Amino acid sequence: MTFVRPKKHLGQHFLKDENIACKIVDSLDEKSVNILEIGAGMGVLTKYLIQKPDKNLFVIDIDRESIDYMKQHYPQLGDHLILGDCLQYNLHNLFSDSFSIIGNFPYNISSQILFKVLEYKDQIPEVIGMFQNEVALRIAAKSGSKTYGILSVLLQAFYEIEYLFKVDETVFVPPPKVKSAVIRLRRNEVLSLDCDEKLFKQIVKTAFNQRRKTLRNALKSIAIDNEYTSGELFNKRAEQLNVSDFIEITKHATKI
Ligand code: SAH
Repeated sequence: MTFVRPKKHLGQHFLKDENIACKIVDSLDEKSVNILEIGAGMGVLTKYLIQKPDKNLFVIDIDRESIDYMKQHYPQLGDHLILGDCLQYNLHNLFSDSFSIIGNFPYNISSQILFKVLEYKDQIPEVIGMFQNEVALRIAAKSGSKTYGILSVLLQAFYEIEYLFKVDETVFVPPPKVKSAVIRLRRNEVLSLDCDEKLFKQIVKTAFNQRRKTLRNALKSIAIDNEYTSGELFNKRAEQLNVSDFIEITKHATKI
């Protein structure tokens, strides 16, 4: 097989710029040994990843054509090439301790990949990923910005997020309709939030689902102690709150 036919429904836009591929791979922390690449495509990142000595690399793709191509061009990967859906795959089968994730992610499932990262957060010290630029900006956004949202808060509770560089659509085949960007997530020191984490997530989601309303109105469906909701903080809107504000609110709420 000479190439993988790009399939739109799988978010296949293949990176053709070798310098950018190299730069993405070089953004990985030298110390990470276990690495999972999501979305092999035709292996433009894999090519640089396998050049790094002493790495334990697994590569997953949902497309049989991609995996067949990879088997032909990177036979040394052997059973570290996996045909599967990264969202469904039990990653504990691959790594028993920590692992980094890297990839030019399929844009149609990039948020779901990040929710999966959160699920495995205590095993994932680092993620280097190409995203649609808008999504990258949103994840990295700080409170007060219009693009700050659910994923920004949930991820920033556990990761430091760095916007690394913007990528033009012309470096992909076929070119996507949007600009892209590479970001890095690094696990922070927080082992657990000082509150019920499920409730925290629910509160963040509820607050942003009605982001134009003040918290007092947006969080009406959640049982929060009355004296607390009469305070100044509840005149604000979700996008004006940082992670620790949301933790404080969660501490004053009761699980329903
Ligand atoms: N890394 C390559 C490919 C990027 S395109 C490059 O930079 O050129 C995104 C890749 O993700 C495609 O190969 C696509 O088949 C794969 N993909 C899409 N959905 C997936 C899923 N759910 N699980 C694993 N891989 C997926």
